[in-house]
Order: sequence, then C-alpha cells, then structure tokens
Amino acid sequence: MNEFSYIFLFFLATSMLLKLWLNRRQMIHIIQHRDEVPEDFKGKIDLEAHQKAADYTLEKTKMASLSTIIGSAILVMLTLGGIINTLLSVTQSSIESDIWSGVVLIMSVFILSHLVELPIDVYQTFKIEQKFGFNRTTPSQFIKDQFLQITLMLVIGTPLLYALLHVMGQMGEYWWLYAWLLTVSFTFFMTWLVPTVIAPLFNKFTPLENEELESRIQKLFQRCGFKSKGIYVMDGSKRSGHGNAYFTGIGNNKRIVFYDTLIESLNTDEIEAVLAHELGHFKCKHVTKHMIVSTFTTLLGFALLGWLKEESWFFDGLGMMQINDAIALLLFILVLPIFTTFLQPISSRFQRKFEFEADAFASTMANPEHLIQALVKLYRENASTLTPDPVYSSFHHSHPPASVRIEHLRSLSGPSS
Ligand SMILES: [Zn+2]
Repeated sequence: MNEFSYIFLFFLATSMLLKLWLNRRQMIHIIQHRDEVPEDFKGKIDLEAHQKAADYTLEKTKMASLSTIIGSAILVMLTLGGIINTLLSVTQSSIESDIWSGVVLIMSVFILSHLVELPIDVYQTFKIEQKFGFNRTTPSQFIKDQFLQITLMLVIGTPLLYALLHVMGQMGEYWWLYAWLLTVSFTFFMTWLVPTVIAPLFNKFTPLENEELESRIQKLFQRCGFKSKGIYVMDGSKRSGHGNAYFTGIGNNKRIVFYDTLIESLNTDEIEAVLAHELGHFKCKHVTKHMIVSTFTTLLGFALLGWLKEESWFFDGLGMMQINDAIALLLFILVLPIFTTFLQPISSRFQRKFEFEADAFASTMANPEHLIQALVKLYRENASTLTPDPVYSSFHHSHPPASVRIEHLRSLSGPSS
C-alpha cells in the first residue's frame, strides 16, 4: 500500500456512492410520480401502463445498485485482495512465454468477472423481465448465448491482446503510439464487421419487405440521399418483448435495424418517421463523429498508460507483487472506469445533442407528429419511465427524457411537402 492506494480507494468509494446516490434519487423521483400520468401523456398512456413502467424501473434500478456494489468489491479483491497476484503466479509457472501468460492472465480475469456477474444477469432475465412479461429467453437459449459470448471474447480478444502485448514489449519508448494505431484500426474493423458477421450469430436479420412501405421508403431515401439498401428486421422477439431501432456499421456494411417487436406495433407513418430519425444519424455523420472522439480518447488513454507503465507506485498502490506489461494493461482497463465515471454527463450530453439533431432532421423529412406517436408507443411497449430523475438522467441516459424530446419535436415545423 502507498498513497496511490488511498487515492484509488477514495475514487472507488466516491464513484460507487455517486452511482448509488443517483439510483436512490431515480427511485424516489419515480415513486413520487407513480400515481399520476404526466400531463403530456394523458390519454396516450393509461395509469396502469404508467405504474407498470414505474415498478419495472424500480426493480431494475435496485439490481443496478447491487451490481455496482458487487463490481466494486470484485475490483478490490482483484487488486489489493491479491487475486491478480495469485493468477499471475499460476499462469507464469505454467506458461513459459511472457506474452502468452499475459494473454491468459487478462482473459481469465475478464471471464472470471463475467461469471461472477452472471447470477445478476440470470435474475434480471428470469425474474424481473419475466415478471413484467418481457422475457422470451429460454434457459437453453441463455446458456447458448453465454457460451457464444465467451467464445467470441476469446476468439476476438486473444489476437488483439497478443498483438498489444507484443507491441508494448518490442516497440520501444513510443510503443503506445503503435498500440493506439493497432487499437483504432481494430475498432474500425469491428464496427464494419459487427453488423454483418457478429450480430447475425445472435439474431436473424431479414431485409424489411413490406409492399405498402416499399415505395414510401424509396421516396424517403431519395429525399435524404441515402444509398444503402440495408433496412433489416431483427428477430428480437426470440429473447425479449422489448423493441427498438438503430443505425449501425460503416462503409458498405451500414444498415438500419428494426426489432420485429417494434415493427409489429408501429403503423406505416410511424415506421417512416423512425426511419427518418435513423437516417438523421447517418446524415449528420454521428457514427463518424463518435469514431473521431473515441480515436482521440484512445490516444489519451494509451499516452497515460505509456506513462503509468514506468511508474512503480502505480503497481505498488494497487497491491501488485510484480511489474509487467500485461499487469499494466489489465490494471489500466480495470481501474480507469472509476475515474471516468465523473465524465459520464459529458458523453450523455453529446449523445443527446445527436438525438436532437436526428429528430430535427426527421421532422424535415417526415411528419414530426408521427415520430411523437412512435416514441409514445416505444415508451409504452418497453415500460420505460416517463418521469426519470433529471440528475440521474443526465448521467445515464443517452436519449433525452420522453417529455423533453417530444417538446423539442413539437417546436419543430412540419414537413414542407
Ligand atoms: Zn437516435
């Protein structure tokens, strides 16, 4: 232990307490507004649906608090509690190559943390989601998903980790610049690969085929200047009753995805409006902007790691018996989030700005009233709360609260055509 140990514990405790405090605020706010549907939604969402959303959000928030406490405990046990030291001595005594023992160490910590959090995941899926009528995952589907996730973690993570540890050990003083280039290229590659290769391992994606929609979509695409034919319907109903739509991928792999559950509940006008919103993300280059920001923050991250890797107080402070590249990388990945928790409102703010921009774009290409109707349906079907605590929301929500978003849409003028 040294002074950095106390700094680490202080930030860990503060970030944990901050998250618990936000969750508490959220719960109190929701309970206070549970008995009345907010003015803007009267007649669109009934009291029963409003109270279901409140109860559902309360249960999920309680689980999130538990998960925060467990996560913090795991972090202390891994570092100051000596688990990483033990794992390291096991891997080093059984694997000769430094790089490979490093890869195995990092992977085993990731898989271990994943397994420790598994009971929460099980409870969330089979208790909470089940109780509110959302769960459609069978136990065998759940187990299959777990295997697939861990396999993917190994298949994708192993070569990346191997390459990173190789660069850290071999590329001299400026290794972090090479590591940054490697990571950024890998991220671009994955963003391109995920929609067509990884996501289809979990779900079936079929091109949206609907004659009534076809011509309206083509006209919408022409108005927006969007070339891709990629509108897909995903069988989200295989696992859950929740619905959504999203824009994903880059280059020739970019696509818009609707959950089948959402498509079922929206009419043609509403689908067109949601599509216009997703095209707004494309038109406003939100994926590109997001990638530029993450490229820059990754550079900052590696520069910081480049410095920390040479500082013995960093390793001593976190209870390490040895100093090596794999430990430096692992500690950095584990510990960084407790310091960046406090920056969360900044990233939420940017994401909300993007949502407002996409809404503004959508309202010039489709009727904003139709987007409002679709949003109300989305909130109702997903039992999302209409009354989040504003402070909680500014930390955790990438989308503005429903009432704020609808007010913004109302303030925009309708389509010119
Ligand atoms: Zn959006």
